[in-house]
Amino acid sequence: MHYLDHAATTPIPAAVAQEMMDVLTNQYGNPSAQYPLGQQAKQLVDRCRATVAAAVGCQSDRLFFTSCGTESDNWAIQAAVWHGRHSGRHIITTAVEHSAILQPCKLLEQQGYEVTYLKPDRTGHVTADQVSNALREDTVLVSMMLVNNETGCIFPVAETAALLREKKSRALLHCDAVQGFMKVPCDPVGWGVDMMSFSAHKIGGPKGIGALYIAPHLRNPRPLLPGGGQEFSLRSGTEATAQIAGFAKAVELRMEHHAEIITHMVELKEYCRQKLLQIPTLVEIGKGEAPHILSVSLPGYPSANVVTDLGAQGICISAGSACHKGKASHVVSALGLDKRTAAGVLRLSFGPETTREDIDAVCDALRRHKEQRFAML
Ligand code: PLP
Repeated sequence: MHYLDHAATTPIPAAVAQEMMDVLTNQYGNPSAQYPLGQQAKQLVDRCRATVAAAVGCQSDRLFFTSCGTESDNWAIQAAVWHGRHSGRHIITTAVEHSAILQPCKLLEQQGYEVTYLKPDRTGHVTADQVSNALREDTVLVSMMLVNNETGCIFPVAETAALLREKKSRALLHCDAVQGFMKVPCDPVGWGVDMMSFSAHKIGGPKGIGALYIAPHLRNPRPLLPGGGQEFSLRSGTEATAQIAGFAKAVELRMEHHAEIITHMVELKEYCRQKLLQIPTLVEIGKGEAPHILSVSLPGYPSANVVTDLGAQGICISAGSACHKGKASHVVSALGLDKRTAAGVLRLSFGPETTREDIDAVCDALRRHKEQRFAML
């Protein structure tokens, strides 16, 4: 098998699976229980929180575990509109955010909020100037992702934070860092971001666990799940200890080998780009800087067919975001590509386990696909 879809999800290293197995079978206490087995589980959660918080660069007590990146995004939006409930009903985000941001925004529109969706340019980028032009007195939230999951473009989160400060805006800044965390520079505290979302399964951790950073100045954020008081009374529910342990172990492994992993992905991406661009008519989409995502198109060859064809040969790539299952994605649509190019968009994404052989296999399979099929559309 050749797995080139690390932006959709990542394989779990054996050390992460072992750590989780140990928690499931030996350290299975409820962290709220008073006896030693429970207290041991509580200490485990505390240690894991400290590990993930250290990678985020924040204090442990400002990082809250959630069930996924989607939950973190939803919570951040709810917390921001609650925080700004007396200030206004205007939100700024980008047209190319993940659905975990766009769908909650759509719901808010139905409740009377006004949302400005910033359009990217043809390279896939948005600018802090666009935020500046859209900013209003009644803006309560700016939500901007760190890395776009389809193009790999890095967005100007630090610059946007600085701009909001300079303009003395009351709007909170949330950043969906699900695709950027541990791949590109990410410093919510240094940048002055109010909230930031993370997800473990994009960095070699398990599915079903995420986190939200909430800045210290937001002293009483809106709880996501009121209940038994877990997660500092903000997100109740018995802690998913095995998932949390897997998240922390994955972070630890990526921290340990950070520089070499990034170098490896940068080299592979360039190798892949050079090889793919030798295929006649193939074009690169956007100008994504993130080391792990390369977006291309074979105009005239519908991506759903390519993905199915390659899938049958044991090659896993994506037709844009895995969340759109073959439909022309909102990200591709926002780039203003012609129809044939838009329909042929493919995303290849890499991880520490990816090899040159994987890339050779995908390039050969794409060439064969082109030779064997007639261009459609
Ligand atoms: N945000 C971005 C940018 C993503 O790429 C994803 C997942 O693909 C999510 C949010 C959702 O994360 P999760 O799958 O943990 O809910």
